[in-house]
Amino acid sequence: MSSSPSAIRVAIIGGGLAGAAVLRGLLRYPHIAVDMYESRPTFRDEGPGLSFTTRALDILAAIDPDLEYCLDRAGAVFSTTETRVASGPDVGREIDISGLGWNCNKNVSRQAFLSEVLGCVPPHMMHPSTRISSVTELPSGQGLLLTFADGAKREYDIVIGADGTHGFTRQLVLGNDEYLVKPYPTGFWSLPIKVPLRRAQQLMGTQSLDTRKPRHMGWIGDGTGIIYDLLDNGTEVQIIVFGKTGDIREDDGLSEASWAKLFTPDEFRAMFSSNRVQVCQGAIDLILSVYTVQVAALCLLEHRPAPTYVTDNICLIGDSAHSMLPFPGASTSVSVEEALILSTLLGRLPSKAAIPAALRAFDQVCRPRAEDAARLSVETGLLVTGRAPGIGLNADLLQQHLRHKFDFLLNVDIEASRSAAVMIMDQLLGVGGSWP
Ligand SMILES: Cc1cc2nc3c(=O)[nH]c(=O)nc-3n(C[C@H](O)[C@H](O)[C@H](O)COP(=O)(O)OP(=O)(O)OC[C@H]3O[C@@H](n4cnc5c(N)ncnc54)[C@H](O)[C@@H]3O)c2cc1C
Repeated sequence: MSSSPSAIRVAIIGGGLAGAAVLRGLLRYPHIAVDMYESRPTFRDEGPGLSFTTRALDILAAIDPDLEYCLDRAGAVFSTTETRVASGPDVGREIDISGLGWNCNKNVSRQAFLSEVLGCVPPHMMHPSTRISSVTELPSGQGLLLTFADGAKREYDIVIGADGTHGFTRQLVLGNDEYLVKPYPTGFWSLPIKVPLRRAQQLMGTQSLDTRKPRHMGWIGDGTGIIYDLLDNGTEVQIIVFGKTGDIREDDGLSEASWAKLFTPDEFRAMFSSNRVQVCQGAIDLILSVYTVQVAALCLLEHRPAPTYVTDNICLIGDSAHSMLPFPGASTSVSVEEALILSTLLGRLPSKAAIPAALRAFDQVCRPRAEDAARLSVETGLLVTGRAPGIGLNADLLQQHLRHKFDFLLNVDIEASRSAAVMIMDQLLGVGGSWP
């Protein structure tokens, strides 16, 4: 890291989407010297594709107008969202969700997008293959000392913990209370696969996977659900199957076994036996052509609400702050909102002495929103697996409860949140003024 003595030194731990987005936001401020550390050898991310609402696109553009073009360069596909019931007496019925309709989402391969986001970042700021093993306070408020896995050390003024669900920075902020620090299994599981378009069309039909009319299609089953959409300029299909089991105890979250949910092929097929929709059965056949011996799904974890995301000089963002269920796609949107607000606040720092005020303002604005998002994600998860009590697979009730579930994401007033955060920071610093 090369920086002037007065520069504010920021270390981002974790090179996933949250870390990359805040890095792009901080690049525009010359008084901030930033380094991003990633333990993996490359900034690769093989996770499932991401879905950005048009509102999230505006937020990306507010971080840096180039980020919207990153999506296009990464082969994002503008898609129309459609949700239908797959099992029970109302099979086939469409559930109309307010704001999710024609060309409302851009779906993108996460790895392609991350590569584009980081493509223009000066290489000296990015440090792959670099695991941080500890962060300690320097005496007399002199900042933080990072120790690397090879024993090297480096000093910073701020650490941004973007190291994901299982990262260690959460403990730096929340202490040793495992109840708060460790994520726990929710009973939901998910299995994403990505296959070439032609292969998917062979089993799922060409009509449901029409590149001229790209759709983000969701089917609500009896304890299960299926989503599919097109990625990579329409050359690949992403299929995500998910479900809810009731057999997981909360304290299982502390064991390693909670990472995966294993099914035999017969058990897996049986879970979808009440789903009589042909395209869904094609998706199951496709998955079982890949997983012929054992089907390994991911247990979906979440964190319990945290009393804070910050200390005076450490700040959690993204999944290290709030792992949540992925159902309305809230985690990505919330991570991007946080990147914008945090980079705005740090960009306004008049001096190192103001760092605690900036981080506290971030916490006051971003934490309640993330908690709301987590709660809505659970409610949505139960609805889209037909497991919401008293609602099940009744299309009228599903319609009633899902119609406005996405308003939270689609109607976010990010400028109001940004202004509120700036105002709180100024109040804490005892100064007037408003953003920008
Ligand atoms: C299976 C799955 C499905 C999901 N589906 C969706 C979805 O459909 N919609 C949605 O909105 N969101 C979804 N999400 C969540 C979404 O991917 C994340 O919220 C978002 O990408 C932000 O992640 P992040 O950057 O906070 O963490 P991550 O992407 O986990 O990145 C953290 C990074 O930190 C690195 N790291 C960890 N420890 C260290 C260390 N000590 N030193 C250096 N580096 C370290 C890791 O290698 C990793 O690259 C899903 C997540 C998972 C796991």
